[in-house]
Amino acid sequence: MKKGFRIIKFKKNKPIFQIRDISKSFDGRPILKKISMEMNAGEIVGLLGPNGSGKSTLYSIIIGEHQAESGKIYINNKDVSEKPIHERAKMGIGYLSQQRSVFGMSVYDNLLGVCQLSIKGVQNQIAMVEKLLDEFNLQHLRKIHSTVLSGGEVKRLMMARILVNKPSVILLDEPMSALDPIVIQDIQKYILKIQSYGCAILVTDHQVQNLFDIVDRAYVLGEQSIIAQGTPKEILKSSKAIELYFGTKYNN
Ligand code: ADP
Ligand code: MG
Repeated sequence: MKKGFRIIKFKKNKPIFQIRDISKSFDGRPILKKISMEMNAGEIVGLLGPNGSGKSTLYSIIIGEHQAESGKIYINNKDVSEKPIHERAKMGIGYLSQQRSVFGMSVYDNLLGVCQLSIKGVQNQIAMVEKLLDEFNLQHLRKIHSTVLSGGEVKRLMMARILVNKPSVILLDEPMSALDPIVIQDIQKYILKIQSYGCAILVTDHQVQNLFDIVDRAYVLGEQSIIAQGTPKEILKSSKAIELYFGTKYNN
C-alpha cells in the first residue's frame, strides 16, 4: 500500500509527545537504556525492532503500567511520568495492546461500555457508537459477540474504542501482526484515517515493509537503544540498522 495525499502538515518544532532517557530493567536485566523520542501532532511514527527488543515494554511504561527506573514522559509539554494509568489516558494517551483485548460481549456493547464511561448523556453515547460503527466498518457486526470476530475485525473494534476518549497520542502495538496481506492493507487504511484526525501515532511492527508503507519517520530499537531514526529512506541507509536488523534484503 502506498500512502496517498497527506493533508496534515505537522508543526515540527512543537512535539505533542516526548520521552527523555527512559531506562528499564527486569530482574537486573537491562531492557531499555536511555530511550528518547518525540512525535508531532498528525505524525505517524514507526517503532521497529526484533521480537524481545522492548517495544511493548516501552509502551507499558508510556501508558503507566510499568514504572521506568529513570527518564521522563511528556504529553503536550506536561510531565506525566508520575501519573497513574487512568490519568494518562485522560490526558490524551490511547493504547492498542498487542493481545486481543475486548470485552466478552457484542461489538455494539463493547463500544457503548467505553462511551458510558467517558461521554455524558445517553444520546451522545449512542451517537458516538453509531459514528464509530460507521467509520470502522463494523455496522454489519454490531450484534456479533466479540469472541467470534476475526483478527482484523477485532483490531478494527479495538481501534474504534481508542477514539472514544479523543486521544492526541495513540500507541499501536503490532496492529498488523498475524493478519493476512489484504487485512493488513485494511488496517493500514484505518491507521491513516486515525492520523487524519490529527492524532500522533506510534506504531510497532517487526515487518519492515508493513510499517514503512505508512510511517512518516521511524525509530529502530536494538541492543536496548535507538540504533537508527529518520525517514524510511534514511533508516535503510543506516549501517548499524542494516548490521543489526535489516540485513541486506532492503538495501537496494
Ligand atoms: P517486544 O515487544 O519488542 O517483542 P517486549 O517488550 O515484550 O519486547 O520484551 C522485551 C524483553 O523484556 C523480553 O526479553 C521479555 O522477556 C522481557 N519482559 C517483558 N515483560 C517482562 C516482565 N513483566 N518481567 C520480566 N521480563 C519481561
Ligand atoms: Mg511486543
